[in-house]
Amino acid sequence: MDLGAYILSEYIPAKPLVCNLEVCFTGGEQTPTKVCAQLKCGDVLKFPFARLDSKPRSVEIKESKVLVAVDKATETKRVVELTLESTFDYQPGDTIGILPNNKPEQVESLLHRLELLDQADANCHFKIALNCAKKNAKLPAHIPATTSPREILTHSLSLNFVPQKQLLSALAGFTNDDKERCFLSCLSSKQATEHYQSLILEQGLLFMDILKLCVNCRPSLAFLAEHLPRLLPRPYSIANSPLEDGDRKLRVIYSLLSQRPGVTTSMLEAAAQQSSPEHPNKVVIYPRISNQFRYTNQDLGSNQILIAVGTGLAPFLGFLAHKEELMKQQSQQESGHSWLYIGAKTPKAILKREKLLAWHQSSLLERLRICYSRGESPIYVQEMLEEDCDDLVKFLMKPETVLYICADGAKISQSIASGLSRCLQKALHLTEEEASQVFKELKTQGKYREDVWL
Ligand SMILES: Cc1cc2nc3c(=O)[nH]c(=O)nc-3n(C[C@H](O)[C@H](O)[C@H](O)COP(=O)(O)OP(=O)(O)OC[C@H]3O[C@@H](n4cnc5c(N)ncnc54)[C@H](O)[C@@H]3O)c2cc1C
Repeated sequence: MDLGAYILSEYIPAKPLVCNLEVCFTGGEQTPTKVCAQLKCGDVLKFPFARLDSKPRSVEIKESKVLVAVDKATETKRVVELTLESTFDYQPGDTIGILPNNKPEQVESLLHRLELLDQADANCHFKIALNCAKKNAKLPAHIPATTSPREILTHSLSLNFVPQKQLLSALAGFTNDDKERCFLSCLSSKQATEHYQSLILEQGLLFMDILKLCVNCRPSLAFLAEHLPRLLPRPYSIANSPLEDGDRKLRVIYSLLSQRPGVTTSMLEAAAQQSSPEHPNKVVIYPRISNQFRYTNQDLGSNQILIAVGTGLAPFLGFLAHKEELMKQQSQQESGHSWLYIGAKTPKAILKREKLLAWHQSSLLERLRICYSRGESPIYVQEMLEEDCDDLVKFLMKPETVLYICADGAKISQSIASGLSRCLQKALHLTEEEASQVFKELKTQGKYREDVWL
């Protein structure tokens, strides 16, 4: 890419971020370990939505299984199921947080750029700079009191994030190349909003991509420690029932992008591939606070309408496995009816298709409807819902029915919600506004529960 093409003749750079920290190397070296640096930060560091009674812990990968193979022709993503050791109680629908780490190759290349390869594992700490003008300058809570450059770049700091303008403006001060300096300053300016829009927001250039483009840009470690965002845990839905194989295990299912896979999914993929029953690899997880999106023993008598797209089927596999186990345990109790609507690209992309068909055959799933976006009509879930409109609304309006939607994207959830709204209008003879009022009521009554994976 020619940086010159993005430099305007006139522009005013954004106000650059300043560095308020200093790094002190204290002598001695750390032995690089796999322990996540964020676990060394003490109780001041909070983990998003963590249950109050649990802390993140390193757990073994017991097994990994490919559920869906990648298929370039249909843009089908690879989907993998991981069985992990569990140290807490859970119910189907609950979620865990997984702490990611950055790729070792990426960390190595950044250490090289910062000219810190010789001190990569050297003990260091950060302190507020003596000349710091900022009154309330603080040390980042996600950096341990004693650490090393490799440790924080691996576990504490996000390297793949959307760079803000003030950060770009500051990066301009860390290069001795005129073209790079002008490119970074210009990109941070109001005048270059169109370039920022196309390069950063549309083409998706992340912080590390900017460093790749500006080969002479060498920000200081102290600056990065202060201004790179925290590497945050990602949520994953539990995809099994604790009654299936004891609550000492849990399963999660993730999908992996073929091009530019994400940080956590890349880490899980590498960890699973290097793990064996003799030498199990570990990942750091914690249980997140539960919400209404779960299926517990009390739900056996109620009805569910389950709607999923793609990997969004994961929590429902847990719901249905739980129902199966409860039905075995409490054969005298009458169980409710479950309907499942799923959309995927192709038949091969349906997670655990055989199991779903078996559940349908045994009537555990009273209704099973599947559509394929690369197949014949209906291709979208909302079209199937509209086809079943009258039945569906009648079933939904029963007091003991709850509708759950899980999709990996806000747009998909919105399209499904619009489809449902059309069903309400048609079946109950309502106007659009009246249907949206009914929708709101369903939500407040807890009859419409949604999990959107953004
Ligand atoms: C409540 C909740 C439950 C979730 N449960 C699951 C689950 O059970 N299984 C699951 O796979 N995900 C689940 N997610 C999404 C998950 O938390 C991550 O966002 C996802 O795995 C990507 O994480 P990453 O760190 O690999 O990607 P990042 O590095 O954070 O992502 C970089 C970019 O790539 C996109 N991206 C990365 N991977 C994918 C992908 N596979 N498909 C589409 N876009 C992608 C991201 O959206 C982002 O724009 C859930 C999210 C929420 C909020």
